[in-house]
Amino acid sequence: YVVQNKPPQVSSQELDSFYSLPFSRRVHPLSLSKGKVKAIETVQNSITSHRGCYGECNFCAIATHQGRTVVSRREDSIIKEIEILTKDTEFHGTITDIGGPTANMYGFECSAKEKAGACTDRRCLFPEVCRSLRPDHTRYLNLLRRAKKLPGVKHVFVSSGIRYDLILSDGKSGRGFLKELIENHTSGQLKIAPEHSVDHVLKQMGKPSKKALRDFLREVSLLSSRNGFTIGYFIAAHPGCTIQDMAELKKFVSKEMHYNPEQVQIFTPTPATYSTAMYYTGIASEDGDRIFVEKSASGRREQKDILTKKENLKRESEENIGGTGNKCHNRHRH
Ligand code: SF4
Repeated sequence: YVVQNKPPQVSSQELDSFYSLPFSRRVHPLSLSKGKVKAIETVQNSITSHRGCYGECNFCAIATHQGRTVVSRREDSIIKEIEILTKDTEFHGTITDIGGPTANMYGFECSAKEKAGACTDRRCLFPEVCRSLRPDHTRYLNLLRRAKKLPGVKHVFVSSGIRYDLILSDGKSGRGFLKELIENHTSGQLKIAPEHSVDHVLKQMGKPSKKALRDFLREVSLLSSRNGFTIGYFIAAHPGCTIQDMAELKKFVSKEMHYNPEQVQIFTPTPATYSTAMYYTGIASEDGDRIFVEKSASGRREQKDILTKKENLKRESEENIGGTGNKCHNRHRH
């Protein structure tokens, strides 16, 4: 038997009430007695702004435990939490993140979904952003601005993932948000999660197309001329992905993103996801076609290695910026 509980439905007020509890933001003494807990660094000075995700990437289980409806906290409650954080003796002025499963889903939702629940016969972002969604980054932008102005706060970063298709489809505040994100809220490099660049693999992943990735990289290049400024998270050996697809991806990253990727994971089957069903059956979830699945340990490793292989990109980078002698800004990765 398989028992699957529905994601709990919480209201914005309930979410606020959880985060107004007096959490210590410290490692539990029992865990501390066993040594340093590195994971605390990611969460100690970060703020949760919302729950839920309608991205529905095929390999991700978050929609099954947080739901497809985004519930955003109220700004005042978030600001209050930050004010308390600034008085913490271990806080030194940097909020490492204000976000959720996908950072830029804060502050807007599909009105039809809020009334009647998420559609069961189509997706909100795949293959394109649904017309009913109407992305709007205004609330998130105002929240980041307000947080940055608080006494005791020097930096406010966004470390949760962002969906670039949402930025591109927000004609009102998308570009303005991207500009401020790059100028004020990015620590080191802008991190995105395209996961691949080959369209038939992206389709099996349920991710935005190569064109959307290219459009976004173009937008970023208008705002930042730093080579290697945008780095991506990638998955090797996802169902449907061959070694040739990984070679294609390597070429794309070298030529259009100008860096050697390190953040590459080999696909791991996770319960309750389409990708896992595809991994075990060899059948595509969209159309029922048979697809290639790399299951051998050596083949899976080889897919990753082809992408992480170091290449000398110096010459290409210099050409790209007109030989001005700018250095690669990948210092955080090396
Ligand atoms: S109408 Fe579109 S955005 Fe709204 S729930 Fe349905 S698919 Fe998602």
